[in-house]
Amino acid sequence: MVNSQISRLAAAHKALQECLWTVRLDELSSLAPMGRIENALRRSNKGFDDWMHKLLAVARKTAPYTYCDYSHYGLGASALAFDGKKLGVIGGANCENGAYTPTKHAEEAAVCNAQSAGYMYRARQNGLKKTEWLIALGVWDPNDLLNPVPCNLCRQFLLEFGRDLLIIGPGPEKHLVNATTLKIITPGAFVPEMVKSVLPKVS
Ligand SMILES: [Zn+2]
Repeated sequence: MVNSQISRLAAAHKALQECLWTVRLDELSSLAPMGRIENALRRSNKGFDDWMHKLLAVARKTAPYTYCDYSHYGLGASALAFDGKKLGVIGGANCENGAYTPTKHAEEAAVCNAQSAGYMYRARQNGLKKTEWLIALGVWDPNDLLNPVPCNLCRQFLLEFGRDLLIIGPGPEKHLVNATTLKIITPGAFVPEMVKSVLPKVS
């Protein structure tokens, strides 16, 4: 490998480390939109750390369901969704396709599963915006790369539902997780508001 490639890889690795923190489950609340879900947490009789534990457990449980005959890179994901009253965790696994492009990533699957289960619909009925129902995303990589950072396609997909999203994956030890937020990993992002500002109004 030539030197320039090595230095590019090193720079990418460093950039990734700078946007990922290794924290305890009970420290994650400082990275999440807690005000919005305070009442739901109280009603659930669970702390935010319990929900984070469940988020990772569902991502891990979903990972074996992956269909990855082409890349052999399976991934499980899970979404912590809020419908305005209660919280729920829904899993999703990647689903590849022989034509490659129609492949669905695990993060997309988890969020679409939560949306299809009615979380966003009910959240809107309860007066929340489309950017307020998706609270956290869990990512479980069975290859133990300890890297919960979604690919750029998934980042764009997730941006539709707001930038506050907390993203977690397993950490180097059992009581630790690797965490980041969508806002941190999408500087200068293309957001839905931009489309609204440039397109003519449809009557
Ligand atoms: Zn992806």
